[in-house]
Amino acid sequence: MRMVDIIAKKRSGNAHTLEELNFLIDGITKGIIPDYQISAWLMAVCFNGMNIEENSMLTNAMSNSGSILDLSEIGEFVVDKHSTGGVGDKTTLILIPLLAAAGLPVAKLSGRGLGHTGGTIDKLESIPGFKTSLELDEFLSQVNNIGAAIASQTNHLAPADGKLYALRDVTATIESIPLIAASVVSKKIAAGANVIVLDVKCGRGAFMKTLLEAQELSNTMVEIGKRLNKSISVVITSMEQPLGNAVGNSLEVIESIQTLKNQGPEDLKELCLILGAVALVKLNKAENINEAKRILSRYLEDGSAYNKFKEIIKAQGGDDNAIDNIENLPASKYIIEIKSEYDGYIENVDALNIAKACKILGAGRVKKEDNIDHAVGIVLNKKICDEVQKGEILAFVHANSQDSATEAINLVKKAYNFSETVPKMSELVYEIIL
Ligand code: URA
Repeated sequence: MRMVDIIAKKRSGNAHTLEELNFLIDGITKGIIPDYQISAWLMAVCFNGMNIEENSMLTNAMSNSGSILDLSEIGEFVVDKHSTGGVGDKTTLILIPLLAAAGLPVAKLSGRGLGHTGGTIDKLESIPGFKTSLELDEFLSQVNNIGAAIASQTNHLAPADGKLYALRDVTATIESIPLIAASVVSKKIAAGANVIVLDVKCGRGAFMKTLLEAQELSNTMVEIGKRLNKSISVVITSMEQPLGNAVGNSLEVIESIQTLKNQGPEDLKELCLILGAVALVKLNKAENINEAKRILSRYLEDGSAYNKFKEIIKAQGGDDNAIDNIENLPASKYIIEIKSEYDGYIENVDALNIAKACKILGAGRVKKEDNIDHAVGIVLNKKICDEVQKGEILAFVHANSQDSATEAINLVKKAYNFSETVPKMSELVYEIIL
């Protein structure tokens, strides 16, 4: 079998066989197939897609490219959650301690930023000392001891996805339903949990721009799950404007801490409660989403989710003192106010432009090997439907250089659209597939 023939087959729009997909994933995992051939194949998949059978076989091959975690010693049911990627999406930082506080073990493997979207591991590395790379036995024993761990994807689990993920990030091949579905589901299967909740983002700041695309991705992942014996639940959620107010690594950790203290933005809290509620309902711990949300709210109100977060930070070598005293987290040199030039209402805050502004400030990578600046980012002061008067602050730019700040300010201004009348608020949650 030759890689060039596999590329040509997909370029012509034909479906791969099991043998071809196994050859491909094996070659990627062993590092035998060069990046330029993998990239050409990725682009062919972007253009010509995959049928559901191929997509399931690809997912299965990717999840079997490394070990599959056995979480049975942790408990009968272990929860995992994954987002397809958004702007200001810090739900993992809140949801994991919240579920653990509610007594549900959570074993979470997370990624770094992808494309314009942020990554949980980059955010957590804002916390001094916090170790994101755990050996599998450390990871498992932490979940056993304190009910939760959040670690970076290791080379042992779905390594083929690790390789493809990094290449897709720099070859404009992220936005493909079969590639996203295989990437997400293969990792979830390898990570071993049996209650899987996926947050499929939809809108300007997401890889799926329309509800129709988000539904297609959701149905694809649910169907692949069925074919590979994993029950997958999906929540399709809006990513028109950033989630919460903060975008940028340390700033998002700070907003997560506020939310865990029950003082965070309403949209962020609501989404965390809904994602957690889906897990509770799946496990028959609540009759319906509303009852489950009420149960989970209590753990935010009584401080137990916040304490669990500190416990996780400490267990992974982080400075839990920095959680109580957020001034010990990375902070930027400059904080610049952006003021409104109009009176009226905010019609939208384009999440993609906010993400681009953050990248310019240094919060995300341009090349695989780039270091990121944990301190920089944007904090929104006005969001969709808010009334605004000329001269009022729209947003704060947290920057470490004047040049990057100037460019970022222009993008943030461009992100804001105004209306003279109260605009229609887009829904936060479009659909739940239990
Ligand atoms: N998240 C992933 O894990 N993979 C993708 O391809 C997109 C989002």
